[in-house]
Amino acid sequence: MSDNLDGHEVYTQKYQEIDETIDCPICKKGKIEIKRIPGWYEWKVSRISAGAKRTKFFHDPKFKVMNKCPECGASRETIKEALEKGKKPETKDERKKRLEAAGIPTQIEM
Ligand SMILES: [Zn+2]
Repeated sequence: MSDNLDGHEVYTQKYQEIDETIDCPICKKGKIEIKRIPGWYEWKVSRISAGAKRTKFFHDPKFKVMNKCPECGASRETIKEALEKGKKPETKDERKKRLEAAGIPTQIEM
């Protein structure tokens, strides 16, 4: 992709979306369809008198959640947050807070 904007050109590497079916991160029972977008680079090019200045931007990996959980009813937003949080360990208190916010009884051992 290439756009001309007042002397600035933006080149964007087309990112890929990978279709996956995963277990619900909340209840581990429901099947969730997601699109996983691995991290990708974008170049921004600015025309300057000496030539062109290229700046590289890295976009973090992302998830798109396609359906809510048929088992526990977790919303797409809740599942997306859980997937993104999954990158770092969650403390017990954080998990309890999140599950309470999602309206899921916390006496269920996950
Ligand atoms: Zn679920």
